[in-house]
Amino acid sequence: MKVIRDPGRLNKLLNGPRRSARSIGFVPTMGALHFGHLSLIKQARQDNKIVVVSIFVNPAQFGPKEDLNTYPCTLRNDFALCRKAGVDLVFLPDSKVMYLEGFSSFVNVEKLSDMLCGVTRPGHFRGVATVMAKLLNIVAPSVLYLGQKDAQQAVIIKKMVRDLNFPVKVKVMPTVREKSGLAMSSRNSYLNEGQKLKALVLSKALCLAKSLIDHGQRDASRIIQRMKELIGRKKQVIIDYIAIVDLEELKVIKKINRNCMICLAVKIGKVRLIDNAFIHKVADV
Ligand code: AMP
Repeated sequence: MKVIRDPGRLNKLLNGPRRSARSIGFVPTMGALHFGHLSLIKQARQDNKIVVVSIFVNPAQFGPKEDLNTYPCTLRNDFALCRKAGVDLVFLPDSKVMYLEGFSSFVNVEKLSDMLCGVTRPGHFRGVATVMAKLLNIVAPSVLYLGQKDAQQAVIIKKMVRDLNFPVKVKVMPTVREKSGLAMSSRNSYLNEGQKLKALVLSKALCLAKSLIDHGQRDASRIIQRMKELIGRKKQVIIDYIAIVDLEELKVIKKINRNCMICLAVKIGKVRLIDNAFIHKVADV
């Protein structure tokens, strides 16, 4: 496994596989790797000749009051996990190299970036789309692997790939959870034991919503109300949003009568957590 810091060198190294039409699977991450990341890497390993993982905590997607400077960093462990999972190349650029002095070109996926998480994190998805465009240009992979955990991000990147003709296939992998139901996230390491218990309310609220739908509830506002009541019982869990949206445009749905997604974001102390669940087309009642 090679660790490459220079974008030009990585791009050149991948010329060989590209010329001989060997498929390149790419998994972009911010490091502090866990089983969620590993599921993407394993799929990439299964599907492709070459697997590239990037580890880059992208400053452009953090707001001024967010956790850029404290974002968990576990590089030695990340390398060990990547090596064990059969990764060929780890791309580990410095932010000064990714954002050269005077950097001024950004990618903004309009509308989709301003809803849901975009409301409380203005500029976040502009940063995400910009770095993803850069990474896709540097790596030029055959397949890009993303996690359903960051559902809005996946929708936005798929839209960017389509709008800007990036020649890459996008594969979105299911959310990997702890046994408790908590969606794995690098940010879970910020939570103390008490907060971790409180955080279970995210997946519990999603289960409640699914069970209400299973029992015939089709009114989105009622489902959201019940989720709010459940979460409201946990002190110190502050709801950012709960929404039921369609899968392409993330538009709010009032009646559950097609494929859709329930998504939510909460804050526990200073830690912001997100989760979501798909609802597959259900019969009218
Ligand atoms: P991050 O390092 O948090 O930027 O995540 C890198 C990639 O891993 C993104 O595509 C995430 O959606 C994905 N990912 C993060 N957590 C999970 C999880 N629990 N299950 C599946 N994919 C995940």
